[in-house]
Amino acid sequence: MTFAITQNCCTDAACVAVCPVNCIHPAPGERDFGATEMLYIDPAACIDCGACADACPVDAVHPAEELPRAQQQYAGINAAYFERSGQPERQGADHGPNFHAWGTPEFERVLPADFAPLRVAVVGTGPAGMYAAEDLLLHTRSDVTLVDRLPAPGGLIRYGVAPDHLATKRIGETFARLHTHPRVRMHLGLDVGTHVTAAELAAHHDAVIYAVGAATDRRLGIPGEDLPGSIAATGFVAWYNAHPEVAPDAVALSADRVVVVGNGNVALDVARILARDPGSLTGTAVAGHALEELRRSKVREVVLLGRRGPEHAACTGTELLALKNLPGVDLVVDDHDPRVGAAIDAAGAAGKAALFRDVPREAVDWSAPPDPSGRRRRIVFRFHSEPLEMRGDENLRAVRVTGGAGEREIPAGLALRAIGYRGVPQSGLPFDEDSGTVPHERGRVTGLPGTYVVGWIKRGPSGGIGANRRCAAETVGTLLADAVAGRLPAPTGGARAFRRLARRRR
Ligand code: NAP
Repeated sequence: MTFAITQNCCTDAACVAVCPVNCIHPAPGERDFGATEMLYIDPAACIDCGACADACPVDAVHPAEELPRAQQQYAGINAAYFERSGQPERQGADHGPNFHAWGTPEFERVLPADFAPLRVAVVGTGPAGMYAAEDLLLHTRSDVTLVDRLPAPGGLIRYGVAPDHLATKRIGETFARLHTHPRVRMHLGLDVGTHVTAAELAAHHDAVIYAVGAATDRRLGIPGEDLPGSIAATGFVAWYNAHPEVAPDAVALSADRVVVVGNGNVALDVARILARDPGSLTGTAVAGHALEELRRSKVREVVLLGRRGPEHAACTGTELLALKNLPGVDLVVDDHDPRVGAAIDAAGAAGKAALFRDVPREAVDWSAPPDPSGRRRRIVFRFHSEPLEMRGDENLRAVRVTGGAGEREIPAGLALRAIGYRGVPQSGLPFDEDSGTVPHERGRVTGLPGTYVVGWIKRGPSGGIGANRRCAAETVGTLLADAVAGRLPAPTGGARAFRRLARRRR
């Protein structure tokens, strides 16, 4: 029996560090690390010790023979990676010892043993901020001030990860253990820019790391975008995750058809939550108000608009597979453009479009309403189709879109714009309007000594949870190198003074 990695792999490679035989790839330092959707266990090398399963923060690793039906294909998916990538990637096949990078971080070698502990503020308690805090706490003697503008920590783990992805949310428990670390001080409900300035925060710490993410949504720039009934998927996600800044009645599910613009993982998340049996959400992390509305929901059909073809769908294959296995939900590909079927038929086994091969194709008749009597709901993938206009008066009535046979209207009472997040300027920091990020060099903010960025405000809004581990290692490495080189400005206030300031201002 061997182990296999499954759908919710976070790619942070915590498993790689504990594998005694190097059978998990791609590993840190290997060419493909960071470029694959998940990590894979080589069944020919796995010795079935289970160390990876114990170390996985998101419960993604299981014995291949015990996988539940919906996950059984992951045994083959793990094996196929090694068949595809061939012998050079199969570094564990000799059952050699594990020398992967996570075990001995670069920066441990950077810091002289007698280096005075640093005091570092981390703004934002989502995954990027917490990986940075973890590096500082576990590999240096630094004191860490955790700051979050919201009253509860967790960032996108709490307010972004879908409520039915409970295993993924579990990584929040790993991070939460650091909240009570003896060298951590946490300030919740403290907004840098409102309660304290960036300069004040910097003056009380040796360095500040901003992990503030991408707090808003991208805009389509089409007529009718702001009609009632057209909302950003980021707002919908915040609604079902009980974000304190989104009203419980912010969403009404009274339409029978919903159009989702985009086909990335956020689009798939919202489509899944809308389409799945609300009864199956009991016991998940879904907000009570959202569950009530989902139980009343009239939605029968969710249409995912992709502006490119199936071969370029932005979602990961793992999330698509999960959607295909969702009980009570049918998937359909709208066969409106010959390029769609052609791409699906021509796709190689590893291509994204191949995942649609067993999905029925039909030329959808948009003049007919979704079947109101049907107990099943359906998700329609419409590729090569862009929204041109949101139409309606008091409320959205239809979305005008492009397509193979020309423009057409898709009647819909709700549209969710899932075209990506966007960073917002952080008071006191430079900002690049084009990319929505803070300009930096390996995490060091341009022109602001002692100030650093990590996560989506550094790289832009893409990449899953594990990508932040690599990103944080780079930023913390830069910070420590600056500290050793004497490039950090000296703080003028201490920890106690900052606590007093924060208490007074909040
Ligand atoms: P994303 O992956 O960048 O997808 C954005 C989608 O919007 C793409 O389909 C894109 O099409 C489309 N789009 C962008 N601009 C458009 C426009 N003007 N008109 C029409 N379509 C447009 O963004 P996301 O879904 O917000 O996800 C952000 C990151 O979080 C991703 O890395 C994602 O994997 C991650 N995430 C992961 C999970 C998970 O693992 N379960 C869940 C949620 C989010 P093009 O591809 O043609 O640009």
